[in-house]
Amino acid sequence: MLNNKYKILLVEDDAKIRSVMTTMLEAAGYQVVLAETGALAKNLFSSHLPDVVILDLGLPDMDGMQFLEFVRRDSLTPIIVLSARADERDKVRALDAGANDYVTKPFSSAELLARIRMTLRNYHHRADSGKLPGGKFQVRDLVIDYDARQVMVHGEEIKLSQTEYNIIALLSEHCGKMMTYSAIIKGVWGYSDEGSVKKLQVNMANIRKKFGVKPGEARYITNELGVGYRMNGERDE
Ligand code: CA
Repeated sequence: MLNNKYKILLVEDDAKIRSVMTTMLEAAGYQVVLAETGALAKNLFSSHLPDVVILDLGLPDMDGMQFLEFVRRDSLTPIIVLSARADERDKVRALDAGANDYVTKPFSSAELLARIRMTLRNYHHRADSGKLPGGKFQVRDLVIDYDARQVMVHGEEIKLSQTEYNIIALLSEHCGKMMTYSAIIKGVWGYSDEGSVKKLQVNMANIRKKFGVKPGEARYITNELGVGYRMNGERDE
């Protein structure tokens, strides 16, 4: 019989978390390969070629970032980082080093499974469509027509500035992925200076207003303070 299950390499040194997560992932239909150290993770990554890596940053034999960099040297395999509470700098560091996403401990199984699905979808979407996403993008009532550079919400056109459009188009191309401030700034302006984050935030505030999103509401786009923005691909989070 063909094995068409997605294979997940779970790198986590805490035995209890490992066992809970394995049960959860297997119940969701994934095949799980376990590594409790960075050294073992390197071996298993090379021999098993997983579809997704879930990586705890705090490993006994090395910084999880070292493993992340090892994978990124010659592979685009999606990596979801498990990070400690509220450690924004770690998240930004991991995302900028090529992690696709992160979940903050403690997390619910629903949250982790949603992140895995989004990461896989995002990865395959980008692999399929290449760099230029022709045609249209849609998530719920938000539609982007890339050829016309037009954004519609509930069937009504939203008039965006060039910069606002570029931000939305960039986030949509990475739908489901948390994009750091610096990644967005680099993608939209090509350079960054001291005022860049502020400029991005001002543009985002205008976009939210035009979309009719109330303050604090995470419709379409989630903002994590100190980290970045994510266009939501599934239900509102
Ligand atoms: Ca750990």
